[in-house]
Amino acid sequence: MAKLQTFENLVDGKRVKAEDGGTFESFDPFTGRPWALIPRSTPRDVDVAVTAAHRAFTNSDWPALSASARGRLLVRFADLVAQNADRLAALETRDNGKLIAEMLGQLNYLPEWYRYFGGLADKIEGAVLPMDKPGMFAFTRHEPLGVIAAITAWNSPLLLMSWKLAPALAAGNTVVVKPSEFASASTLAFVALFEEAGFPPGVVNTLTGFGAEIGPALTAHPLVAKVAFTGGDGTGQRVYESAAAGLKRVSLELGGKSPNIIFADADLDNAVNGAISGIFAASGQTCMAGSRLLVDRSIHDEVIERITAIAGSARMGDPADMDTQVGPITTLPQHERVLEMIDAGRKDGAKIALGGGRPAARHLKDGWFVEPTIFTGVNNRMRIAREEIFGPVLSIIPFENEDDAVAIANDTVYGLASAVWTRDMGRAMRMSERLQAGTVWINAYRVVSYMAPFGGYKRSGIGRENGQAMIMDYLQTKTVWMDTTGTTANPFVLR
Ligand code: NAD
Repeated sequence: MAKLQTFENLVDGKRVKAEDGGTFESFDPFTGRPWALIPRSTPRDVDVAVTAAHRAFTNSDWPALSASARGRLLVRFADLVAQNADRLAALETRDNGKLIAEMLGQLNYLPEWYRYFGGLADKIEGAVLPMDKPGMFAFTRHEPLGVIAAITAWNSPLLLMSWKLAPALAAGNTVVVKPSEFASASTLAFVALFEEAGFPPGVVNTLTGFGAEIGPALTAHPLVAKVAFTGGDGTGQRVYESAAAGLKRVSLELGGKSPNIIFADADLDNAVNGAISGIFAASGQTCMAGSRLLVDRSIHDEVIERITAIAGSARMGDPADMDTQVGPITTLPQHERVLEMIDAGRKDGAKIALGGGRPAARHLKDGWFVEPTIFTGVNNRMRIAREEIFGPVLSIIPFENEDDAVAIANDTVYGLASAVWTRDMGRAMRMSERLQAGTVWINAYRVVSYMAPFGGYKRSGIGRENGQAMIMDYLQTKTVWMDTTGTTANPFVLR
């Protein structure tokens, strides 16, 4: 058997193993075989990393850097990411099985987060207050919070991490990153570039390990000021509770059951492509998956026919091939969960229009594949319409009119994303107001930008990522008062 590639944590500027030398295997989802050994960190490792991050925040070259110098470091880092994009994309594909075409797209775009927030670093301005109190002068200053714990999911480790790190570092914080135990390798390779860019030791630290073993130690650590989390809503709730005990700030980017809504007046070629991209891109393993396709009843059968034809001919295969369109599921437990949800759909009486299990092709037999699966005859009460599946499983639900579409779309505990396909711009605007979701795409699906706030309504999360305003989530405001009169007011009353 081929030797496993080994990786180490980055703590206080040093490459380190877990304190007890523990490791775990990382699996290639295409071959189903282990390919890397990852440090299995312990709660003691968490303490060392958080303490190092805190030391870097309070007592290192980092707080002494000017905001402009901090911004320049981030821009230098962005250039290094751009130079290493191909290597990092290949590593991520190997580790989480996502298509190389998708990962190259992500990695080539990702430097923009560091350029954007790097550019913002020296534009964080406080204000002089137009004072109503005679003899007082007051101004505000926005200051970093301290140590940020960034916890990410396995589906796009580097992108999700960058949504946190770019603003956190631009604001002057330090970070401890914990990637998912199912896809840790790319994060460990990525953080080496922070050292190369010249960030002081301890500003960026990474710990790998199991969520259940080190997650609580990180979210409850007294020196952590904020937890920035991406993952499932169940885990998000536990993270929130743990952070609440320490009165820490949190941002939670959680799951969804997003409605993708096609009206009869839509450009159907585009709408069908949007439906495919919503659920079969990344094998449905995206938080923003358009897993409920709501279709005007008058075009319902035609839409099913068109989607089934395209999805049925999608090329499944090695995610490292540029031609592959549908890759494997990243983790074995997730593979089982997706198949279990397909069974639940059958049991609830939905009809399978496409797929419905593991593909039979020989070249796919070792990987954790699930066929692109389409259910029709779905109603919004079925489990497949209510629970996040995080796999290539689409539920098609007919609707009668605009009100009906809104009612079905909003009848979910989630509210991450949504889309509307129509040529009627009045309808598009009405729908954009009525949909309870953090993102509404009109005649588009699965578009994100460092400029555009992203996050969830309802159980899809708390807070937003991306966009200028969001940097304030990594800052706290201090008000400074100064008496200019030199006289003492009555000390027994509020001045
Ligand atoms: P998960 O919730 O199982 O794990 C997420 C992270 O939390 C991992 O790093 C894990 O190790 C860690 N963790 C587990 N238990 C913990 C604990 N008790 N304390 C602290 N950390 C703990 O999620 P996943 O399976 O890795 O990812 C899939 C989920 O992530 C889906 O629900 C998906 O919708 C969501 N997601 C959301 C977004 C978004 O931006 N809204 C993006 C991608 C994925």
